[in-house]
Amino acid sequence: DHILKLEGITKVYPNGIVANKDVSFSVKVGEIHALMGENGAGKSTLMKMIFGIEKPDEGSIWLNGSQVEIKSPDAAIKLGIGMVHQHFMLVPSLTVTENMILGIEPTKRGFVDVQAAMRMTREIAEKYNLHVDPQAKVADLPVGMKQRIEILKALLRGAKILILDEPTAVLTPQETEELFKQLLLLKENGHTIIFISHKLKEIKDICNRITIMRAGRSVGVYEVDAVSEED
Ligand code: ADP
Ligand code: ADP
Repeated sequence: DHILKLEGITKVYPNGIVANKDVSFSVKVGEIHALMGENGAGKSTLMKMIFGIEKPDEGSIWLNGSQVEIKSPDAAIKLGIGMVHQHFMLVPSLTVTENMILGIEPTKRGFVDVQAAMRMTREIAEKYNLHVDPQAKVADLPVGMKQRIEILKALLRGAKILILDEPTAVLTPQETEELFKQLLLLKENGHTIIFISHKLKEIKDICNRITIMRAGRSVGVYEVDAVSEED
């Protein structure tokens, strides 16, 4: 069944650019769903609406069968949505542990049980093969590690739906391979993954379905088996 459904979404930016025009997009529970399209097709804008960064001018968003209004990233997080940004939202001068704690409860830090937070982080890291050095300063880590911390942070905050915005753009082929293994592990454990990309070759192996966007519109949804090999 569908965990997330967007219906008739239109988004016009203040400068008049129509970033999304009557887009419908739906994601099934436990699938890896790729959102593909050229630069400027409207993919990030659509994801920003799911994460409460932008608001649709028209259309509706449904989570587990109920219509929701996602007013802010905090609201999205409370609804179990996690976002791994292309430009990481980490504090580079702080350690991995400190970033995790910031991720849990930004308004109440200082009241977080640090030991419990670290225990949870360790458990999640082990379960999903997302190993990181908890003492390392984020600024000193390679991008692949920063991305891993963002994924961990989202999971620690209870994400069931994970949105990754062009996650492989910054990765080496080896890091990409590791990421894909981690995503498959997440999927096996019941997480739903939305993956923005413009490289069909790369994602075909791990995705269940693909939605293609062009010039602000959704122009097709494909089961991966039905995708042509030459593309
Ligand atoms: P994609 O993620 O597929 O590259 P975007 O959603 O980023 O596409 O962009 C869709 C269109 O909206 C583009 O023409 C882009 O320049 C424009 N756009 C994106 N963000 C903004 C913004 N904050 N203000 C104005 N225009 C924007
Ligand atoms: P992303 O694809 O992750 O949104 P970008 O580099 O395309 O990253 O955009 C960086 C920021 O600039 C985003 O917040 C986006 O909304 C904004 N932006 C993108 N295109 C435009 C535009 N044409 N006018 C104004 N802001 C834009």
